[in-house]
Amino acid sequence: MKSKGAAVQNNPHTTLITAEAPVAANTHGGRAKCLQRLVRLDFPVPRTVALSFDAVQRIAGGQVPDIAAILEQFDEAALLCVRPSSEDPDWGGPGAILNIGMNDARYVDLSDEMGNEAAAALSLRFVQSYAIHVARLDADVFDDIEADGLEGLRQSLRAYEDETDEPFPQDRGEQLVAVLRSMARAWDGTSARLLRQAKGAPADAGLGLVIQEMVPGVGQGECGSGVLQLIDPTTGLQQITGRYLSQSQGRDALGEGVAALYLEKDPRGKSLEEVAPKAFAELKAHAAIMREKLREEMQVEFVIENGHVHILDGVRVQRSARAAMRIAVRLAEDGIIPQQEAVMRVDPHSLNELLHRQVHPDARRDVLTTGIAASPGAATGNLVFTAAEAQASAARGEPCILVRRETSPEDVRGMHAAVAVLTEKGGMTSHAAVIGRGLGLPCIVGASEMRFQTKEKMLTAQDGRVFKTGDKLTIDGTSGQVLAGQPAMLEAALDDCFQTLMSWADAERDIEIRANADTPADAQTARNFSAQGIGLCRTEHMFFDPGRLIVMREMIFAQTSSGRAAVLERLLPMQRADFVQLFRIMEGQPVCIRLFDPPLHEFLPTTRSGQRELAEALDLPVSDVERRVAEMTEYNPMLGLRGVRLGITVPEIYDMQARAIFEATLEASEEGALVVPEVMIPLVSAKREVELVKSRIDTVAASVAAERGQEFEYRLGVMVETPRACLRADEIAPQTAFLSFGTNDLTQMTYGLSRDDAGRFMSAYVRQGVFAEDPFHVLDPDGVGELLKLGSERGRRVQPDVTLSVCGEHGGNPESIAICRDLGFDYVSCSPFRVPVARLAAAQLAISSRLGG
Ligand code: PEP
Ligand code: MG
Repeated sequence: MKSKGAAVQNNPHTTLITAEAPVAANTHGGRAKCLQRLVRLDFPVPRTVALSFDAVQRIAGGQVPDIAAILEQFDEAALLCVRPSSEDPDWGGPGAILNIGMNDARYVDLSDEMGNEAAAALSLRFVQSYAIHVARLDADVFDDIEADGLEGLRQSLRAYEDETDEPFPQDRGEQLVAVLRSMARAWDGTSARLLRQAKGAPADAGLGLVIQEMVPGVGQGECGSGVLQLIDPTTGLQQITGRYLSQSQGRDALGEGVAALYLEKDPRGKSLEEVAPKAFAELKAHAAIMREKLREEMQVEFVIENGHVHILDGVRVQRSARAAMRIAVRLAEDGIIPQQEAVMRVDPHSLNELLHRQVHPDARRDVLTTGIAASPGAATGNLVFTAAEAQASAARGEPCILVRRETSPEDVRGMHAAVAVLTEKGGMTSHAAVIGRGLGLPCIVGASEMRFQTKEKMLTAQDGRVFKTGDKLTIDGTSGQVLAGQPAMLEAALDDCFQTLMSWADAERDIEIRANADTPADAQTARNFSAQGIGLCRTEHMFFDPGRLIVMREMIFAQTSSGRAAVLERLLPMQRADFVQLFRIMEGQPVCIRLFDPPLHEFLPTTRSGQRELAEALDLPVSDVERRVAEMTEYNPMLGLRGVRLGITVPEIYDMQARAIFEATLEASEEGALVVPEVMIPLVSAKREVELVKSRIDTVAASVAAERGQEFEYRLGVMVETPRACLRADEIAPQTAFLSFGTNDLTQMTYGLSRDDAGRFMSAYVRQGVFAEDPFHVLDPDGVGELLKLGSERGRRVQPDVTLSVCGEHGGNPESIAICRDLGFDYVSCSPFRVPVARLAAAQLAISSRLGG
């Protein structure tokens, strides 16, 4: 039979897999290449023919392959299987079709070999799978067939003939052509395309197919088939797992036909190791060799025939994010791959999955329903019912849960903005589930026991409780439970493997990673994730605390500068205590505190009842409160009296904040590491703004030092978030120690695109290719990127030592970090949970640029 190779080998698109055959992953796919490697390792692999991407494309286009040349490669009586072979196995492909060649005559032969029941079962499976996947009949055609065995087979064949008006094909070649055509075309289908693109496949990704001779796996000795791997795919820990279906005892003896022979015992009370110790040892050895030579944890697909092992395939073990990390680290620790490669192998985005919080095991759970746990991790947020609302909520810095009946590509922007997703419909592979997992976003799908009235923006639990926009729920994507309220959370487990990988990454990295942290809890998370400091502390968040809000409102209502200063005196100790806490947690690491940024009216009550409450607290008539609120209303508050403009016109606020920072500096430095605070001025657009604020802050610093009789250092910097500040960076930089680019506002102002409203049309813009990506998510390399370049170059030209950084949301996005690194920035700062993602992404950038990538 070996001599038959010539016809196929002469055809570059249809190749018998031998050790020397020209087979490559980028022409024939990963599975074909892997099979060739197994052949080269002298593994007992059945004969296999690989069809190239080109050949499959031609088949999809209607060309009939040279089926005679292909069949010549195989034993005349052999049954065949066809499996997909995409370039990257993770991109998937149509399901395999087994037992091609099964027909009436083969059924008779097989009945002699394996008995009627087993032959009928095998035949029945082929007929139904061919009917559904190749002839494209509805699966429910077979719903009413209850009989199995020969009777089930007869009824299935009759159903096939009724539906197609044709007899079931008997010819192996005819069956094979139809299988190849249907698999080739399935690859071009819209849902297959979307699914693989969600996994990173390019639009024109090719599909190869492999045709393999099936090993009958029947005989007098131990026979059966199964899969084996050396690790647990969820944890990545060493643990032989898999399953094995023994033919020797007949299907009935094994119940459903599948028995896990390694952990559980089969109905005979014996494990594979006991039934076929030699085969078991061989399989383990093969798996270990595969791991070493293929430099990967592989799942071995095998058949045992009369005690002899045949290896049908080796597939990269499907794995959770946690397992992927452990596998990479262990391969490096075992000297199979270098540490750098382990760092390169872990997708930074996938870290989200193992970094997410979980509901604390001891927390009380107010369970509203249980759906399908589609993406792990737990998150609490306010309900929103549209993608646009989700984006607006994220832009306001409010965590939200996106509730949809089901999601579609238009919702992806909203999913990016949400902390969790909940859908009524769908399963593990539905759009929400696939995208949710890709984003590492806690996600529950199929929560159909709840009533979803998304138009009315209402969600009703089975017990009648109604939840509306803004109400707080918790999504536990690990258990599938939807919980009312906000249970206690457990921070993600940072096990040894994580720490090891991160330490390898840190050794490679050449840009620092800080965290944006507003609260002591954020700061602690930042420390846990080894952030190298706080890059942005948004101080205004400290004033939203209920006890402080009222004092803040009093300050806003003060008519005179001295009145204002008096109220600020009361806020001073509160701010000082906040900063002391932050400094203590950060233990001498840099902490960059941004002075007050938002428009003051954000602190005023908007509802009548809120205004009445404030009037009571201030002992003023409601009309006074209403008037003051009306006076403060701005047409365009984000471009109005906020940021440094407040610092210039209401300077007492910055004075108080500077004093709080400096007093806290001295207090925290007394017992702990020396603190050198960084004070950042937001929304600067002119040099004079910096001069004015700087001189006041220097004055406060001098007063504090004189009062306390103690000197201290501090660094004053500017937040570059207006296009003008970028353009005039050469005027601004000489007065500052650092320039930190606030790319959220900078993107808003560069595009003239409201951060809060862009969600309404962002998906249309991205869909129609106006923007390649949402520029609030991935830094725009051309426009905003050019401003970053101008600003950093102009700043450095006049002040070579100026520290450069990004502190907008982009700081945690791998693609945006690449831009900052290329510009020679000193650090990026991102939300605490994105710090590991940023550390790993930055390390990968450093490694690939060293490798010339
Ligand atoms: C920014 O504008 O990029 C920024 C970090 O500040 P904020 O999001 O608070 O406006
Ligand atoms: Mg800003």
